[in-house]
Amino acid sequence: MSFMYEANNYTSYTGKLGALYTTDETIFRLWAPTASKAYLNLYPDGDASKCEKKLEMTQIGNGAWEKTEHGNLDGVYYTYSVIIDGIENEAVDPYAKAAGVNGKRGMVVNLVLTNPDDWENDVSPSFSHPVDAILYELHIRDFSIDKNSGMENKGKYLAFTETGTISNEGLKTGVEHLAELGITHVHLLPSFDYCSVDERYPHKSYNWGYDPGNYNLPEGSYSTDPYNGHVRIKEFKQMIKNLHKNGLRVVMDVVYNHTGTTIESNFNKLVPGYYYRMDENGDFSDGAACDNETASERSMVRKFMVDSVVYWATEYNIDGFRFDLMGLHDIETMNAIRYALDEIDPSILLYGEGWTGGPTPLPEKRQALKKNTHMLDKRIAAFSDDIRDGIKGHVFKHKEPGFVNGNFKRKTDVMFGVAASCYHPQVDYQKLFYSKEPWAKEPSQTVTYASAHDNLTLWDKLKATCPKQSEAEYIKMNKLSALLVLTSQGISFIHAGEELARTKNGIDNSFISPDEINKLDWKRKKEYKSLFEYYKGLIALRKSQPLFRLQTAGEIEKSITFLPSDPHLLIYTINNSNQTLLVAVNADINACTITLPESGWNVLVNGECAGTTVIGRIDDTTLYMPPQTGFVLEKA
Ligand code: CA
Repeated sequence: MSFMYEANNYTSYTGKLGALYTTDETIFRLWAPTASKAYLNLYPDGDASKCEKKLEMTQIGNGAWEKTEHGNLDGVYYTYSVIIDGIENEAVDPYAKAAGVNGKRGMVVNLVLTNPDDWENDVSPSFSHPVDAILYELHIRDFSIDKNSGMENKGKYLAFTETGTISNEGLKTGVEHLAELGITHVHLLPSFDYCSVDERYPHKSYNWGYDPGNYNLPEGSYSTDPYNGHVRIKEFKQMIKNLHKNGLRVVMDVVYNHTGTTIESNFNKLVPGYYYRMDENGDFSDGAACDNETASERSMVRKFMVDSVVYWATEYNIDGFRFDLMGLHDIETMNAIRYALDEIDPSILLYGEGWTGGPTPLPEKRQALKKNTHMLDKRIAAFSDDIRDGIKGHVFKHKEPGFVNGNFKRKTDVMFGVAASCYHPQVDYQKLFYSKEPWAKEPSQTVTYASAHDNLTLWDKLKATCPKQSEAEYIKMNKLSALLVLTSQGISFIHAGEELARTKNGIDNSFISPDEINKLDWKRKKEYKSLFEYYKGLIALRKSQPLFRLQTAGEIEKSITFLPSDPHLLIYTINNSNQTLLVAVNADINACTITLPESGWNVLVNGECAGTTVIGRIDDTTLYMPPQTGFVLEKA
């Protein structure tokens, strides 16, 4: 094997790294084992000023360097310079907790001064089991940037602190919209400091933010003052605090699998080559399809990732992490992250993309891939592309439909998703499009969804697959999709705006598209009121029915029974000793009548309405199913 995925010839340092602040002194500690000299550079600002002091650092063993500077350094900007093979490189501390504009210099910070009023009483809403989560994937800027958002701080963290905001049509927007919808967790697209958007002119460009610059501090373009390192931290905390106050937990999308720059990254300038996997030619391998991939299996990369998530969880009270391209991380590191966070709060959610962006030198058996999920802790989940594409069709083949839009061959994928990718005796694994066996040990390992920020929005996908159908039919299909996601076992996940029939005008990769494409368009809340109410009702139903949130694979196997039915129908029951629920979906464009297993049912969901109240009654065993309509019944 010539792959350079091992790097055992580097010494590891296990202590604290970064600028360790107290009011009397700051200890600067850097790991740079291949440097012959290291310097601390101090600056009066984070932008263009000249270096005020360049101080030589001292080796303290295990590849670490240290310099203690006396006095209160809060607000002092800094970088490190290292000399390696006679060449001097200046870089930002990868452990920097604050930075100036565009993250070009770190800043020493007294974090106490960044706490909003009453921060010490910030408490995450109560939450016990991962399958109780209903995630809502949201980009900070998209949330408020629409001129009709009713929020003043458009595109900013502070939009999440506004109360009583309404659209021109008089409907709730902002955080109160999220609370009204009933989701449990807001999952924020990258909100650590990323490279692409020029923080001096945030309106000139847009980016999702999958190009990490500084991992341990918030992105500046969402703050009201990106030049002052304190401001973004305080405003980020204000956002978290108000979300918590409104009953919403917060998940961060973290992108440790690659860095926004490669040769010029802070990691690479400080310890060239160490943080990245190389291919057999000695070039940067590119399993992330972003010019490089990090090497989580190396001790100091693993330590960095663990330290980083622990920092966000403790300093910012973050409640969960979504790992971009988790398949590029090694299983041991993902489990180490789980155990480290358990020391803080076992209810912190962990999930990620169980795939890579391309070939990687990391051996497949070590990759945190979907197929290897059984080797991860049972509280680390992977996204189910099986049900995602089963519901509405392939993400890359735009015209290929899924079950709700007429491709009934995808029915088995949906059944597999209903069972949260766990073993179920009635799922014929040979009929699945992707997986050929159950990949989740427990339902807490599957994230169930139909759409996300990547690829076409659900609404655009329905239109692309069924160009001859009507708007009314798209709404029906969208409702079926929502019904399937929110009644399936596992962790539920909704792309922000699905409940508003979100469109990006058919653009399937909007990562640099303008706000006009990416924004949440709040007038659609009025236009698609029935869809919004349907999502809201399904969410309330899911929260009220433990049978949709079974906690073990054993219960799923025992409690769910799929009833024999034609290809366009999906009918199953979930029962325990004192309750039976029946879910029935007719995905065909024609109506039909089905025979129920017993007589006497209360209707909780039909094609029009969803919720927790009984909206109809079936006394016999006959259920008439209009075209493209789903039902949830409860045995009376
Ligand atoms: Ca930035």
